[in-house]
Amino acid sequence: MVKLDDKIEAMQDELVSAVQRLVRIKSVEDIGGGGKPYGKGVADCLAEALKMCGEMGFPTVNMDDQCGWCEYGEGDEMIAVLGHLDVVPEGEGWNYPPYEAVVSDGRIYGRGTIDDKGPVAASLIALKAIKDSGIRLNKRVRIIFGCNEETGAADMKYYLANGGEIPVMGFTPDGEYPLINGEKGIINETYEKDISDNGEYAILHIDGGVAGNVTPRYAEALIKAPKDFIPGNLPEKITVSGKDGNWLIAAEGVAVHAQHPEKGENAIGRLFLYLDTLPFEGSTKEAVSFIAGKIGMETHGERLGCDLYDEISGHTSFNMGVCSSDGKAISVKLNYRYPVTHEYEECQPLVEKAFTGNGWEQKAHQHKPKLYISEEEELVKSLMRVYREYTGDTSGPKSIGGGTYAKAIPNILAYGPIFPGDEVVEHMPNEYVSIDRLVENAKIIAAAITELVGV
Ligand SMILES: [Zn+2]
Repeated sequence: MVKLDDKIEAMQDELVSAVQRLVRIKSVEDIGGGGKPYGKGVADCLAEALKMCGEMGFPTVNMDDQCGWCEYGEGDEMIAVLGHLDVVPEGEGWNYPPYEAVVSDGRIYGRGTIDDKGPVAASLIALKAIKDSGIRLNKRVRIIFGCNEETGAADMKYYLANGGEIPVMGFTPDGEYPLINGEKGIINETYEKDISDNGEYAILHIDGGVAGNVTPRYAEALIKAPKDFIPGNLPEKITVSGKDGNWLIAAEGVAVHAQHPEKGENAIGRLFLYLDTLPFEGSTKEAVSFIAGKIGMETHGERLGCDLYDEISGHTSFNMGVCSSDGKAISVKLNYRYPVTHEYEECQPLVEKAFTGNGWEQKAHQHKPKLYISEEEELVKSLMRVYREYTGDTSGPKSIGGGTYAKAIPNILAYGPIFPGDEVVEHMPNEYVSIDRLVENAKIIAAAITELVGV
């Protein structure tokens, strides 16, 4: 692929200007803004991307401003490169204007430069280099421009629900190299239990955690207790203090992302382990003992029975992220993830059964299925072959606990744009992409396309 590489190197300025055109349109989600599904900015950015495709000579489709694509090649089968044009809000702390795509020291700075407008531009340049080299493709290559990756991938749900063609294979340059060939299945659930049945001790209020997918750093409970209540020997990181004739119990934890809860400490679990030492009665006692006894500070769902394991992706990750109570009911928000070679059926029903068996009601449930394509499959072999050839890095593909855009449509995997050891700058102030890395991405993408098509 030396010829393609030379071509792509010669297109560096065109690549930089393509990134700039996309970054200079602020495409933060604004549902319904300007009459567009994800807002005017997102729709304008899609229009700009499609305009660039037109300038390069590719036919395009805009699917109701939900997403769009361009194609090159002939044949029944379609290979997809899936990127997205929406960005997260810029936030504070920038040394460069976030939407000007300033070039400085060999980098382009701006929101979306690495996630994911840079990789989208690199994909376009890769396809143009293939076309300009006169390489004929006997499969169609479709670069899909998603518009809602950052906030739920409703764009790809729309694509699939409205007859969008499913690729035979493909990749999304919206993860990391070498290749992510496994992503755990993710379950988000809320359970609630009535605790109105109180004795001398009662829970008046509980507040812990900020989100299902973060291990809680802090949790507190306000309880009513008899006059002679003595907190006793307090465990580590638990404090008890009087508050307006009641008692405030506070627990400290360590916040980490729920894809690796074992690296943190669950403040809600710690709080309940202490509460369980107090003589609550009735349904309050049932609820407290259940959370303390079945979850506590465990991070794999051991005693709930959902701790699955495989060598590829490790244990089930289990996180109780949020807990609240108004004194009448307790509600807990869970986020748990099962290993890539296991099934939802081996995991979720056990959790649900344990909760409902103790009188909890399921209030919310959402499942993002796992994704796994084995190393024996052509897609994994081809993408790894290209990556190794370009980088000399012989490490294998990875499985992760998080979910990437690859889950949004079938038969694709996350491949690039971030190389091992590169600084992580997505969603941060001063997001940038190095121009060298961008060119390298374009070369790898071009080679991967020709490899998957079988040129
Ligand atoms: Zn992204």
